[in-house]
Amino acid sequence: MNGWIGRCLRINLTEGRHNIEEIDPGLLERFIGGRGLGARIFTDEVSPQVDPLSPENKLVFSSGPLVGTGAITGASCNVITKSALTGGLACAKMRGHFGAELKFAGFDLLIVEGKAEMPVIISIMDDKVRLIPALEYWGRTTVETEELFKNNLGDPWSARETYLVSIGPAGEKLLPLANLINDRFLPVGGAGIGAVMGSKNLKAIAVRGRHSLQVADGNRFMQVVTTLINKLNSAPLTQSMSQTGTAFLVGLCYQKGILPQNNFRRAPLPLRNIATDALNSAFALRSRGCFACPIACIKKADVKYSAYEGKGMAPTYLAIGSLGVNCGITDLTTIGMASMMCGEMGLDPVAAGGTLATIMELVEKKVVTPEELKIDLRFGNGEAMVEALHLMATKKGYARRLGQGGRALAKEFGRPEVFMGVKGHSLSPFDPRAIQGMGLHFATCNYGPHHLFAYTFIDELLNVHQILDPWEIGGKPLLVKEYQNTTAVMDSLGLCNWPLMGLKFNNYVPMVNSCLGTNYKADDLLFIGERIWNLERMFNLKAGFDRTHDTLPERFIKEPVPDGPAEGQVSRIEEMIPEYYHLRGWNEQGEPRPETLQALNLEV
Ligand code: SF4
Repeated sequence: MNGWIGRCLRINLTEGRHNIEEIDPGLLERFIGGRGLGARIFTDEVSPQVDPLSPENKLVFSSGPLVGTGAITGASCNVITKSALTGGLACAKMRGHFGAELKFAGFDLLIVEGKAEMPVIISIMDDKVRLIPALEYWGRTTVETEELFKNNLGDPWSARETYLVSIGPAGEKLLPLANLINDRFLPVGGAGIGAVMGSKNLKAIAVRGRHSLQVADGNRFMQVVTTLINKLNSAPLTQSMSQTGTAFLVGLCYQKGILPQNNFRRAPLPLRNIATDALNSAFALRSRGCFACPIACIKKADVKYSAYEGKGMAPTYLAIGSLGVNCGITDLTTIGMASMMCGEMGLDPVAAGGTLATIMELVEKKVVTPEELKIDLRFGNGEAMVEALHLMATKKGYARRLGQGGRALAKEFGRPEVFMGVKGHSLSPFDPRAIQGMGLHFATCNYGPHHLFAYTFIDELLNVHQILDPWEIGGKPLLVKEYQNTTAVMDSLGLCNWPLMGLKFNNYVPMVNSCLGTNYKADDLLFIGERIWNLERMFNLKAGFDRTHDTLPERFIKEPVPDGPAEGQVSRIEEMIPEYYHLRGWNEQGEPRPETLQALNLEV
């Protein structure tokens, strides 16, 4: 096959056995691969009512057909499961090299089911699949796990070619804020997935492969890839990404009042300390890219201070927003420490940062005192925040209560309105009052309020493909629908979405066709994206979500931004929802109409 391998590896941890299955070509045609194929198989095999932490829940790791072929940014592997945080479908995008290595080992898909009796690591070395006892790894951080596993291989070359995804202490303790970490320090988004992996007694998965992949028209493919690389290299925004990673967004979001401060209540503190030039002086940055990516937006950094020493990823926009400014912290070194602590402990930085911002507001409002918490969690106290992250991940001390997440915490203290999240998941650091389309996406996203499932800021903030005012709502429902569908199909092909800052979706089509030997037009692919979005929506509806969950916290609807560039703005979410539902072919309750499902050729 071209691009695809056509094989799935299924591992049952309860029975300690595995088998290799052929993938139905009809499914590849309708759902492509990656996120789409993973979601189709997951929703076919797992009940929406399943307890996320029970052996009946499954983990599907799914690489797209372009992954590993040399297609630009063809590196993405999606992890699908039922979330331990939201209770809905969870999808995490794994970057780096794991997804390509899974293909080189001979598999598009890995399905993990059941529960091991004792902690194990799955080792996939081509067709040789083993369950390795992992008691000596249990309790270790993600970095220690990777180092120990590679040392135990006893051969530096094998170690170099082996890629791991693992959980940290947070996943072992089944915290709903737990995520996965791959390639040593890359966070795999999707809070709650780490707890699902922990519930299966699965500490890590290691993969190495030597198969080669086939493309349909090699000459044409190389030609198109070269053109796209040249195009990307000359785009100003992707150049900014190459220099400082996603942190380049900090200044732009600040200028438009999008960057939240102190649990989304005030305009940001002075930019000086968190601007990208400050990033360069705070850390010696080194670039690293995912498989076949010319942008290399991942910035590695070392931190060596008395309170913390470690290596990891330099703060991204997400870390600076969620663990920094929204917790009142603008010291980049502290944010770097917090971000690396999340990586080592296997905590999702958005969910953990949102939880800390929630408790900080409760402390500010005197609902709970630092004395009761036994930790001084006030806005701006970075030292306490780093300590709290460690305590919550290891379920130690009073901070263990924080590990349940912001929504549960706010409810426990009788102040549910203080939690700034949707469907139980904290918001990514974009104030929805100052960027209306993103607010609509946050309210309607199948995976909780995460910007990586619709890059509306590319047009609302950066004005790359069209010039849209972030504070206006005109055209936003269509924009959101289109970005959601585009992201769904790109995730399914296995492509990173960030290059949309330099390329149009249409630009990818010749690369897809010359790789896969298909004749897709852009609209055909976007139609598949729409099918995938509706498939995910139907699972969540059956899991118990409804129209009432497609909204934002009252703060964004009723409290205007108090100061700064977006002063006076509120979210106009309720005005946008009816048009969005209409464009999607859903009824007033947000349910896909039968004729919509039929037109999408979707049985659910
Ligand atoms: S743009 Fe960044 S995240 Fe995307 S593939 Fe390249 S290095 Fe990875």
